[in-house]
Amino acid sequence: LAGRAFHPEDTIIDVDGVKIGGGNTCVIAGPCSVESEEQLMTIAKAVKSSGAHMLRGGAYKPRTSPYSFQGMEEEGLKLLKKAKEVTGLPIVTEIMDEVNFDVVEEYADILQIGARNMQNFSLLKRAGKSNRPILLKRGLCATIEELLMSAEYIMSKGNNNVILCERGIRTFETYTRNTLDISAVPAIKELSHLPILIDPSHAAGRWSMIEPLSKAAVACGADALMIEVHHQPELAVSDGAQSLKPEKFEHLMREIEKIANAL
Ligand code: PEP
Ligand code: MN
Repeated sequence: LAGRAFHPEDTIIDVDGVKIGGGNTCVIAGPCSVESEEQLMTIAKAVKSSGAHMLRGGAYKPRTSPYSFQGMEEEGLKLLKKAKEVTGLPIVTEIMDEVNFDVVEEYADILQIGARNMQNFSLLKRAGKSNRPILLKRGLCATIEELLMSAEYIMSKGNNNVILCERGIRTFETYTRNTLDISAVPAIKELSHLPILIDPSHAAGRWSMIEPLSKAAVACGADALMIEVHHQPELAVSDGAQSLKPEKFEHLMREIEKIANAL
């Protein structure tokens, strides 16, 4: 079902009139974690005014350490809903397990399945029964074939609205957090009709590399970008080092517009 041979035309996913796939560059931006009303509203208004199309923010966080901040949970979802009411931006947020599926599904416009859950097959099957589009992130050590097979799990249960996400893979390189596999964009375009989104934030792990990697993603045909933004990155509870300040995000938006117009 995910294969290009089965479905030659590009899949275009429409969320409240915002389209992902088929040529436009959709930009999803926001904090790694929802931390407070003041934090989320400040960032949501800033990314909206720079031209972002959707708002991201984690309310359930997959942290490496069980002692790290785990997310605001339903309270965080309520803040995301409020941010949507204020800005009009559709919401992208992570669903980590089946237990919380119904509640996250109620608040989110797009449900994100994180890299660590790419092969959580029972979660994928549940996502296949959802009426929300699924943003499926490539696993830390997953091949493109394995990513497409995980999309197949979701689609085989009836949900054809899957967005694939390249967010960097583990290699021997340690300068960056992960290695952005930019070749995943043309590879997925050859193999599949599903939209491909690039997340340079979790790939690089460094804010200074987000703009050049975003430009590369747009130039090679990515359908969407997801960018972490924080107004006080040094105080962020998660992923501050890779978060852009609003003014840097504004600059990035203007730069990628130039690339998109030149294509
Ligand atoms: C995220 O997008 O917040 C996240 C945790 O990403 P990943 O699953 O790619 O690590
Ligand atoms: Mn993050």
